[in-house]
Parts: sequence; C-alpha cells; structure tokens
Amino acid sequence: MNTTNPILFVADSMLGKLARYLRIMGYDTFYQSSYSGRRLSELVMEGRTLLTRNHAIVRSYSNAIFIEADLVKDQLKAVDSAVGLTRDQRSWFSRCLICNSPLSKAKAEVAREHVPDFVFLNYHGKILSCPSCKRFYWPGTHRERTLERLKDWGF
Ligand SMILES: [Zn+2]
Repeated sequence: MNTTNPILFVADSMLGKLARYLRIMGYDTFYQSSYSGRRLSELVMEGRTLLTRNHAIVRSYSNAIFIEADLVKDQLKAVDSAVGLTRDQRSWFSRCLICNSPLSKAKAEVAREHVPDFVFLNYHGKILSCPSCKRFYWPGTHRERTLERLKDWGF
C-alpha cells in the first residue's frame, strides 16, 4: 500500500464497528446503517473497495472483500490480510469516527469553548475538530485503550 494514495473503503451496513476501526487507522471508510439499492454499487464504481458480509454481493465485484468473522478484531485482520493495513500511527486518529471527514487542528479559542476545562489544559495544541459535524477529539485515556487494543490485535 502506498500512503500517498491510500485505499478507500465502503463497508456494508453489517460492518459498523469495522468501519470505525478503519477510520481510527486513518482510512477513508464510507459507512451507513442502511443503503438504498444502487448506493453501494455507485460507491464501488467510484473506486472504493467494498467490505461485505454478503456472499452474493461479494461475487458481483472484483474489488470486494468478504468478511466472514463476527468479531471486529478478526474482521480487521481479514482486511489486513487482503490489503495490508498501515502500521504508521501518524495517520491514526486523523479522521472523524462519526462522519469520516479528515480532522483539522482546533483553534485554541474555539477548543476552549467546546471541550472540558481539564482537557483544554492538558491537551491544548493537540485538540482536533471535525469540520463537518463539529465534534472535538483529543488524546487521552480512551485513545490509550484503543491503541492498546490495536497492539494486542497485532497492529
Ligand atoms: Zn465529523
């Protein structure tokens, strides 16, 4: 995989947790809890790699990965064996987990208004925000736990 031209994913409606972990790792991963008839195929035609639990659907596309496992850990490993996911943590936590937009550095005066005081004091300068849905992100215990989990899983 080439980091300047990373792979784009679209995850079917059964793979919400997997989509979230791929976003954590910085991958542009389209996900909706439901898709209208043609939407999935349009996204695949746009160049996204389809992740699906549906046997019939996976056979209709050349760039589709069948995800058989139930646990997100094993699903992530399946994607890794198919395409080779990055271990470069510089791209991790760079994308909104809710809406998939790339995050940008939050301005201090804006962050101060929107995050708890202790967060602002501890992580000031490291607070990111989503330009689309306006959520704020910062390093902290939740991120530490996620990193530990990914490390346990071999990432
Ligand atoms: Zn967002």
